[in-house]
Amino acid sequence: MAQTVLKAVHCPKCKQQTNTNILISMNTAEDPGAMQAVYDETMFRWKCNKCGFTTKYQHPFLYNDIERKYMIYYIPQVERLKITDAKLEQEFSDLSDIRKRVVPDINAIKEKICIFENGLNDMAIELTKLAVSEVVAKETEHNVYNGYFTDLDEEKNTISFQFFVGGDRRSYIQTTRLEVYKRSLDIVRKNFVREERQPGFLNIGRQWAKNALDKYKSK
Ligand SMILES: [Zn+2]
Repeated sequence: MAQTVLKAVHCPKCKQQTNTNILISMNTAEDPGAMQAVYDETMFRWKCNKCGFTTKYQHPFLYNDIERKYMIYYIPQVERLKITDAKLEQEFSDLSDIRKRVVPDINAIKEKICIFENGLNDMAIELTKLAVSEVVAKETEHNVYNGYFTDLDEEKNTISFQFFVGGDRRSYIQTTRLEVYKRSLDIVRKNFVREERQPGFLNIGRQWAKNALDKYKSK
């Protein structure tokens, strides 16, 4: 069931404090609308009941898909590469084969859901994305900031990413052959499977991919 907590929120407009029910976790088996609520961000919409001002209220949130066996913990701006939560570990101790992830922003939750819904491995996606982002940096002669997996095309055998490049963070779509992903998947299976089985929520993003690649190359 969707879990909420009552929280005092200060309205940035009228400066008054109101008590609001904040959604802290959702389970796709019991909340069929959970994925849509993440995609269109309605779950982060907050409305002041004093003046009617609406804004995006970003707060920690746990997305749980028991059927597909993954949990995504959103902690705004989280930088740590691993988060352990004793209470959650205990609660879900019988689900040791579940993929547990922590993500720093809303786009990253959407991306993780999209990766897992496509039956892909997010570690391999991150390694692929890192390699592709280097190509994009060279092609555009700009820094590449964030990038997200957007599409898998099995007919064309391609995988696509959206990057944000340059000072104005302009959107840049790059498609690459699926073999690049398959090679990354091979590296993950041979080297990083054990990491997956440890307790804790892993932050599998750009920093993880850089560290993993360094570890792999130094072998
Ligand atoms: Zn207000």
